[in-house]
This record gives sequence, C-alpha cells and structure tokens, in this order.
Amino acid sequence: MSDLTPITVAYGNGIGPEIMEATLKIIKAAGAKLDIETIVIGEEVYLRGNNAGIEPSSWDSLRRTKVFLKSPVTTPQGGGFKSMNVTIRKTLGLFANVRPCISYYPYIETKHTSMNMVIIRENEEDLYGGIEHRQTIEVYQCLKLITRPGSEKIIRYAFEFARNNNRKKISCFVKDNIMKMTDGLFHKLFDEIGEEYPEIEKEVLIVDIGAARMATSPEIFDVIVLQNLYGDILSDVAAMMTGSLGLAGSSNIGDNFAMFEAIHGSAKDLAGKNEANPSGLLLGAVLMLNHIKQYDVATNVHNALLKTIEDGIHTCDIYREGTSKQKVGTREYADAIIARLGQKPETLKPVLYNEKIITIKEKPEPKSKIKFVKELVGVDLFIDWNNGTPNDLGDMLKRIQTANLKLEMISNRGTKVYPNGFPETFCTDHWRCRYIKKNKTDRIKHPEIIELLEKVYDHGFDFIKMELLYYFNGEAGFTKAQGQ
Ligand code: NAD
Repeated sequence: MSDLTPITVAYGNGIGPEIMEATLKIIKAAGAKLDIETIVIGEEVYLRGNNAGIEPSSWDSLRRTKVFLKSPVTTPQGGGFKSMNVTIRKTLGLFANVRPCISYYPYIETKHTSMNMVIIRENEEDLYGGIEHRQTIEVYQCLKLITRPGSEKIIRYAFEFARNNNRKKISCFVKDNIMKMTDGLFHKLFDEIGEEYPEIEKEVLIVDIGAARMATSPEIFDVIVLQNLYGDILSDVAAMMTGSLGLAGSSNIGDNFAMFEAIHGSAKDLAGKNEANPSGLLLGAVLMLNHIKQYDVATNVHNALLKTIEDGIHTCDIYREGTSKQKVGTREYADAIIARLGQKPETLKPVLYNEKIITIKEKPEPKSKIKFVKELVGVDLFIDWNNGTPNDLGDMLKRIQTANLKLEMISNRGTKVYPNGFPETFCTDHWRCRYIKKNKTDRIKHPEIIELLEKVYDHGFDFIKMELLYYFNGEAGFTKAQGQ
C-alpha cells in the first residue's frame, strides 16, 4: 500500500495559484508524503454558468480524499452566485472553523506583542442558513437558527481542542442578554459541557465587551468559542491584529472531511506580481499535515517559517524599514523557508507537533436525547397592516377569537404596543399578534390555529407568517415582547 496520503488541491484565483505553488514546494521539500488530486474551482467555474463555483467531478475528488487544501477563490460580484466556501462547509459538514491568531513580535510589527489565541467558530448555523424573507413593504427578515446538537458539537470540540493542545482557558462570547433563547442555549451548554473539563478555566462574556477586550488586550485570551456570525467578524479582526491578513491559516473540520486554507481572499490587486505572502496558506497546510498525522513535516515546516520571519526575510505586507532585513517576493520567500528546513527559531517559540497534542480522540455522543413533552399553547400571527394605530388593530383583533384562543398582546419590531403601548413607539407595517390559550387547562390543537387563521383572513387581514407557541416540559419555548 502507498504511504502517500491522498489530498485534493485547488489553486483558486487571484494570488491563489502563486501561494499554492509556494506552499506545495515547501511542504514537498520538507518531505510531505502526498498524492495530490487537483481540481478547478471558483471564478472560471462560476463564469461557465455554475452558480455554486464547483463541478460535480470535484465533489467526487473530495469524497475520495476527504482532505482539501484550498487557495482563495474570487466570488464574482452580482449574478446570484453562491459563496463557495459556505457551500463546501455545509455540504461536507465542516462544523468547526479553527483559526490560530499569533503575533510574531518584534519581527512583525503589531500593537499586540504577545497575542496567542485560537478562535473556534461554529461554521454551519446561525444567520448563515441564508433563510431570508421580505414580509411586508417595510420589513425584511433573516432567520437565526441555533441548534442544540450543533452548539454541543462546537463547544465540545473547543474543549477537546483546548485539552489536547494544552490550552488553559476558554472564553465563550454570546449576546444572551438580548437573545435569551438562541444565545442563552449556547451559554447554558457551554456551562454544562465545561463541567466535564475541570482543569480548563472558563468564562462567558457578552460579545461586545468580549470583542472590546480582545481588541485591546488579546493576550488575556487563549481559546475563544463563538457562534458563526460573531466568529466570522472577530476572527478577521484578530487575524488583522497580528500584523497582516496574509499570516493566518485556518482549518474547517467535520466528522468525515476537513478543509485547510488561508484566511484571506484572492487579493486581485497583488495577483501575478510575485508579491503575496504565502504564510497563511502554508500555516493552513501545517494544520493539514497534523490532520493527516505527518507531525514531523508539520513541525519542520512551521519552525522553518518562524525562523524565516525571525531572520527578517519578509514579503511586502509585513516588511518594515528597521525591523525587516530583506524584502522578498513570494517565490524567494518560499526558497528562504526551504533553506531553513531543519532549523528552529531562536527567540520565537518553536513548535513541536505530535499525536498526543493534536488528535481529538473521542467525540462523545451529543447529550441532546432528553425526552420532551411539547404542548401547543398559542400562536404568534404576523400581520401586514398599515391602516391605523396599534389600538385600532388591537381592538379589531380582540374581537376575533376561537373557543380557546384570545389575543394577548401585539408587538411591533419586538416592542409591545398593545395593550397599553406608548404612543411614542415607532411602528412599521409588520405586527406580531400573540394569541394564547384562555385557560391553563385548555388544550390547543392545530385545527384551532387554522380556524383562527381563517377568521383573521375573513376579517380582511393579510397574515404573512406565524410561529406556533409551545411549552417544552412546562417551560416557554418563546420569549416575551419588550415591555410585556
Ligand atoms: P482579500 O483578503 O483578498 O484582500 C484584502 C487585502 O489584503 C488585499 O488587497 C491585499 O492587499 C491584502 N492581502 C490579502 N492577502 C494577502 C497576502 N497573502 N499577502 C499580502 N497581502 C494580502 O479580501 P477582499 O479584497 O475583500 O476579497 C477579494 C476576493 O476574495 C473576493 O472575491 C472575496 O469573495 C474573496 N474571498 C475569498 C475567500 C476564500 O476563498 N476563503 C476569503 C475571503 C475573500
């Protein structure tokens, strides 16, 4: 049997081909044992009329190798093209995005001299489902979906990552003071799962204060775990704080597949000029070499990169008069790294990868198999209406009832406006009308909701959506309106 590990490689667009050539040259020189299948993705596939930017034959390659080293691609502007990254992540179930953000001070200029953190971002859920609707003339909606198994998986992954990489602390950023159910679930699961890792220090911060602290004192963070949108934004901020977008690599990990890349895009302004910094993709390749258990090669490549940075041999994005010694192009930078294979940095901390510190050995089953008793107690009916005041609407809807359901309140953009609203509250044409069961003992079934919808329709109202209101084991599965 061959001792080569099959991987799929895509050269991407813009600076992609240059940095991929440099990366492959370095890792091959370091002795990486790879059987490479090359696929074409991105701009030219999009422009051939394929909206996903990736051909069916490329999926076949990914299914065969299960390991993907990918250069950045350009998503053409306009024309309804889908983000290929999102497609790949979701199709292959790459639930964890892992992004180490490390400063190389004093060799690379940064205001944050001792930052060394790993951002672990949930990659599949949150607002990235792309479930958006225009519901009225004035109101547009994007659905934030947070699931229990998805959250458990990423939080557990973060704890396992910390344990296996000898990281001491995990910070979880949420906004559960506002999003009590979605972010509240994430917070609760972080606390619950955290109990299984007593040796790791844990903290939960509201994302705004967490972000502010990260931007001013990143050295206080070790591992940060967050949902998709917060992670998307903050991991770019963190990478930029290290000195250049060109320096960070990332992995996207799933149960069966993994993708490795630089965090930056295709930087068309630098394409074809031999100026791009290949370090981000090279560090992505280091993560890949660890994933395929070629630990010696990963260690060798990473240390040679650190030594090159330390020797002041820099591409133009990190070159600074005074600190740097030699400004080089992409190819020369790669050659300088190759010349340092086998060497270690003297001031920067050398790395040493081995099985013990990198492998996530066990993935316990998510604990979400708890039995739930689900009771239907009402409905939030969303109505498109623009004919008067909240009291006008409330007084009309109050007369529309069923045997067990009555109007409880109306909110507009989440703020209660009926009954007893404030005349000052600004209202759009989008009203949430909450009907709830009249008595505790009433039993609501779906036909009664349909009866209510028919009555509301017969009175000339345009209902645009509804959300059923449930109790789960006696606990409300919905929030109150502001002011309720
Ligand atoms: P970008 O990251 O491509 O470039 C921003 C700027 O950062 C560049 O102008 C360049 O000056 C600098 N830069 C980036 N990488 C560098 C490197 N390796 N060396 C030196 N300097 C570097 O971001 P953008 O301009 O917003 O996006 C360009 C295209 O890339 C878009 O089509 C976008 O959709 C795509 N993109 C792809 C990925 C991906 O494939 N993973 C990620 C982000 C953006």
